[in-house]
Amino acid sequence: MYLHGMEPYISLTILHQKIKEGKFTLTTVVEHYLQRIDAESHLNAFIEVYKDEVRNLAPVINAKILNGTAGRLAGMVIGIKDLICYKDHGVSAGSRMLENYVSIFSATVVERLLDEDAIIIGRLNCDEFAMGGSNENSYFGHVKNFADNTKVSGGSSGGSAVAVQAGLCMAALGTDTGGSVRQPASFCGIIGLKPTYGRVSRHGIVAYASSFDQVGPLTKSVEDAALIMEIIAGHDDFDSTSSTFPVPKYSQELSFEGKKRIAYLPETLLSEGLDPEVKLLTETMIKRLQDEGHSVEPISFPYLDYVVPTYYILTTAESSSNLARYDGVHYGFRSPNAADLESTYKKSRSEGFGAEVKRRIMLGTFVLSAGHYASFYGKAQKVRRLIREKTEEILRDHDFILLPTSPGPAFGLGEKTDDPVVMYLADIFTVQASLAGIPAISLPVKNNSKGLPLGLQLIGKRFGEAELLSFSKYVMDMHMADQE
Ligand code: GLN
Repeated sequence: MYLHGMEPYISLTILHQKIKEGKFTLTTVVEHYLQRIDAESHLNAFIEVYKDEVRNLAPVINAKILNGTAGRLAGMVIGIKDLICYKDHGVSAGSRMLENYVSIFSATVVERLLDEDAIIIGRLNCDEFAMGGSNENSYFGHVKNFADNTKVSGGSSGGSAVAVQAGLCMAALGTDTGGSVRQPASFCGIIGLKPTYGRVSRHGIVAYASSFDQVGPLTKSVEDAALIMEIIAGHDDFDSTSSTFPVPKYSQELSFEGKKRIAYLPETLLSEGLDPEVKLLTETMIKRLQDEGHSVEPISFPYLDYVVPTYYILTTAESSSNLARYDGVHYGFRSPNAADLESTYKKSRSEGFGAEVKRRIMLGTFVLSAGHYASFYGKAQKVRRLIREKTEEILRDHDFILLPTSPGPAFGLGEKTDDPVVMYLADIFTVQASLAGIPAISLPVKNNSKGLPLGLQLIGKRFGEAELLSFSKYVMDMHMADQE
């Protein structure tokens, strides 16, 4: 499985060392990943692979590593979610609507990766316009979980998670509006971070719900997540919601000492539909951290039942506005069956969008309509504020909140597609941090009795990514030591 003495990817530092020692070249590395992508093409993680480009780029970056002029991500083979614009490359948001669309500019996050000599190997499958939690809403088909091909990848960044899980690239970028980085990461046994709202530029990201969307890394190690964050985070003149708050050197601030105050929410452990193994895993982690001398205490969060409805009212509202631009006239899919202006709009949108996207546009239009605005959209805005304030209040006295990432492990393909509400309810643990706009990370802690990965989530303080990452590394190291 590994070419010319290449070993499983561990970290970029080790990779650079081996290249400098002449153990292998970046060409070997790139060929290895291209071969892996071919061998696992049945997973359907990639929508497009940039074979020729990465083959041409590998020797150029290899030379830079050898002569000491390489950027901080030199040779990191990265996949990007098909929602992130890359100049002169297709970006389809998993939709027929943008099937043949080629981006005329690069997202800021892409420019920042390329400036540091990352190698972007292709674009990754996702739910259509990032709407979904299983990757079953993609126009390009579902993605299979590498741990069990009959299970979903999670979503919406399903291709990103499986590509890292299956070793088809070293790391990936996803986007997280209500859990789309964290939940697939937990289903695939990898790390996924959703940054604070405003930490990473949204310029060049196909919009779903603009007051929630954030780009985040999916990686095998906390170190890689920290390094990628350090590079993609920070103010951008092209995104007025991106913060000017200084970006710490996350990758150099990973050492952890001392004792932390952690809250867990008893409501999450009592919640209906929580898988017993996930519950046990959470309780075991609470106990384990207490044994290490951290304070881990129950703090009530009375709004848990309201997080999913609030999230879906607000995000459908925002998406109905964002997706109005796909009208068959400006760009994107235009129905060949249209005869006049009105039928161009109607048929292009009816044929170009999939069922879930249409459902959300209709729901969003409804909650924003004059007769219902106050009772739905207006009310949900107020509830969002309550959720945010309560969460911030908990985080004034505590460093982190610990909770499961998802109520269960990866579910079966087709298992939840009949009932959208069942699918929405599975987002119960990820949307709190999204509504509050604060950072949260999913850590791969254990496989369940059937060999499916389970993840635990830590929510941190606003712009507290550095603390969140260093504590995550501590938790992962502790966990590794326990396994030995
Ligand atoms: N599952 C959630 C939804 O469908 C989250 C999606 C996301 O974060 N992009 O809205």
